[in-house]
Amino acid sequence: MSANRANVPAFDSSDLKELKEKLITACHILDHEGVTDGYGHVSVRVPGADAFITIANVSPGCVTMDRLIMQDFDGNYLGGAKTPPNEWPIHACILKARPDVESVAHTHSKWSTIFSVLPIKLKPMHHYGKFLSADGPPVYQGIGLVRTVERGNDLTAALGNGPVVLMRAHGDAVVGASIEQVIERTTRLAMLGEWNHLALLHGEPKYLTAEELEVYNADQRFPMRGWEYYVSRLNGRK
Ligand SMILES: [Zn+2]
Repeated sequence: MSANRANVPAFDSSDLKELKEKLITACHILDHEGVTDGYGHVSVRVPGADAFITIANVSPGCVTMDRLIMQDFDGNYLGGAKTPPNEWPIHACILKARPDVESVAHTHSKWSTIFSVLPIKLKPMHHYGKFLSADGPPVYQGIGLVRTVERGNDLTAALGNGPVVLMRAHGDAVVGASIEQVIERTTRLAMLGEWNHLALLHGEPKYLTAEELEVYNADQRFPMRGWEYYVSRLNGRK
């Protein structure tokens, strides 16, 4: 049974238009920035309802308005394109368990994948990583696609209350309070993975400590500058 079904606006409602457009832009950014490839997806919670919108079974770089789908947290179809992404439970289970989360990205980022299989952690070494804990994100050890609610719940448990969970031999799931924040975190996670890799070639990096991260986290403003920059790159100003 889907809760709050009465609160779910019609998929084609004008209430959802802006959210859907932003979701499409977010997917195009991850594709353009090379974080996603032919796979991966971003979702957004439908405000006030136990439902979410994500991309239908399509590559993030190819998504259009008619290739979005709305589902409830049990995976029931609520509108849009007919075919959900294989790993829809990633979004449903996290959004159900984390009312603080408005948007989720799942990618097969090479940097997250590399650090998901190494005995070393992907740690914050620049203030771009201030959303991470000093010892880096946890790693979900389950192997295979997250195609069931059971596996979605296991992934959600591994994520805990944090912003990121790496998925062993697979990629990552990143959450945030908005689509813009999820895109900033997902792109920065990939940058930090690359920078960790480069720094480690030269020895043991002097990572940011928990106390030092607090200095950066004292400022929780979220300027739209990063989002604006990525959108401008999409629009051809390379
Ligand atoms: Zn996947």
